[in-house]
Amino acid sequence: MGVLVVGSLNVDLTVAAPRIPAPGETVLGSELHVSPGGKGANQALAAARAGAAVALVGAVGQDTFAPQALQLLRAAGVKLDSVRAASGPTGVALITVAAGGENAITVAGGANAGVTPGDLPADLGPHTHLLLQQELPPAVTLAAAQRARAAGRQVLLNAAPSRDTAPELLACTHHLIVNEHELAALAGAGAGGGAEVAGQARALLARGPEAVTVTLGARGSVTVTARATHALPAHPVTVADTTGAGDTFCGVLAARLSRGDSLSQALHWAGVAAALTCTRRGAQAAMPLWAEVQAAGA
Ligand code: ATP
Repeated sequence: MGVLVVGSLNVDLTVAAPRIPAPGETVLGSELHVSPGGKGANQALAAARAGAAVALVGAVGQDTFAPQALQLLRAAGVKLDSVRAASGPTGVALITVAAGGENAITVAGGANAGVTPGDLPADLGPHTHLLLQQELPPAVTLAAAQRARAAGRQVLLNAAPSRDTAPELLACTHHLIVNEHELAALAGAGAGGGAEVAGQARALLARGPEAVTVTLGARGSVTVTARATHALPAHPVTVADTTGAGDTFCGVLAARLSRGDSLSQALHWAGVAAALTCTRRGAQAAMPLWAEVQAAGA
């Protein structure tokens, strides 16, 4: 039972500005908003709020950002024994949001960049599911997947952000989760719509995964396995901010699978939880508790 997440922890520093500064330009923005982030941390929090026992492996620095990166995880009961306090700075994402809604993000990897396979716990403990993303050094992600697979655990990979995904990593993955852009990058094709998405996802089954889920934003998700296709419309909500929707989907999917739900049940709850995250501003702060998800999706 439970989910082990090996992934990034960041602090997001967000400023709203009339426009994204041009090279060499200084723009006066609004008040600074400081919030915890990083795909690993976000997904661990979503999984814990969905009722799973969750442990996170990663690193923060020894600076004033570290406690902020850990605050909501600790409150949700995520086990943080394997989050190392590295000597450098905590990972930071500098986010400028323009009046029109577009954003520009610069990430300083900080402690995330220093995570090594040596940081992985020797024993995977009681966790039945490993959840990975692509914000840590690739050698760590691959080593975690190989170790978990060899130990009979289920490996879920959210291949985000888009970067070269090693064939060995895909071969170790049981369940791959991507958005349309990541699917196109992996499939080596332009993002197609409708049936083309399912076809591209199905082609990825030959490279290792037993299931491939493509998240489609407001159009929901489609999941293919060798035996079936699950097409789920999005849960209808009034959207305030979609930040964190993808991370909520991945965390809740892993959490519910670890609790013994069937694939179609787990996909349903992941979609409901991700939609609820869209109804509130921010990433981690917007992620719903299991009682809310159950009430909305029953
Ligand atoms: P992000 O990077 O913004 O977190 P993403 O590109 O990884 O997102 P999306 O495909 O945008 O992921 O969204 C993930 C899931 O969240 C979707 O499959 C869907 O279930 C849910 N979702 C996203 N947008 C909406 C929406 N407007 N209404 C309802 N549900 C949504």
